Amino acid sequence: MTTNLPLSGARLWDSLMEMARIGATPKGGCNRQTLTDLDSEGRHLLRRWAEAAGCTMRVDRLGNMMLTRPGRDPSRKPVAFGSHLDTQPTGGKFDGVLGVLAGLEILRALHEAGIETEAPLMLINWTNEEGARFSPPMMGSGAAMGIFTEEEVLAKRDSEGSTFGAELARIGWQGEADPATLRDLGAYFELHIEQGRLLEDAGCAISAPISNCTSSRAGCSRMPAARSASSPMRWRRTGSMSPSRGRRRMAAPPWPGGAMR
Ligand SMILES: [Zn+2]
Repeated sequence: MTTNLPLSGARLWDSLMEMARIGATPKGGCNRQTLTDLDSEGRHLLRRWAEAAGCTMRVDRLGNMMLTRPGRDPSRKPVAFGSHLDTQPTGGKFDGVLGVLAGLEILRALHEAGIETEAPLMLINWTNEEGARFSPPMMGSGAAMGIFTEEEVLAKRDSEGSTFGAELARIGWQGEADPATLRDLGAYFELHIEQGRLLEDAGCAISAPISNCTSSRAGCSRMPAARSASSPMRWRRTGSMSPSRGRRRMAAPPWPGGAMR
């Protein structure tokens, strides 16, 4: 009986380095922004690797990749894991890629050891987690969970005026699956590189988060000026009043127990 899964750190490292060649930058990082030709190249590489490990691929209408390894009991909901292959323009080699390729390493090790799991396993590569090219970030996962509509995601434009939908079709990664099926997972796990230095300062290599960050975006608009002394407060939209209202809202965030940290 196998007591532990024979994962290969060396194979994971080699795959991280091979993926990092796609969009490599002179400083040693990666520029593989979402829905570019390079993103497509990274997706094809992941697909080849996952299929060689016995997975089949489905892609949803927003380009989220689902690479599934069947389980013994098809009535069980999939146990999913993954992250994102897209990067910031000055991104690093690891960020979301580690979460995707660590998941791939699990699938490879199970495949090699001939282990059958009860539930199906699903490796997910979410589209546009970074939000560098199309804002906001976390669009593929957000739409899958019902935070955004598919229509609004597909209509988003980058700084050149290209839409998300047109670029997704152009690189050939618009599938037919319904993103909402991703709400019906048995569990979801994501390994991710820390973005700050809290762990490093604490001398810890790894930790499990007990809460997560969220982001909200504020729009700005020009309002007519009004003289402060003679204008009631409710009319005032001066440069100092609007930010102070925003700051008051930020000081009481809408999640439980929540002060800004
Ligand atoms: Zn990330």
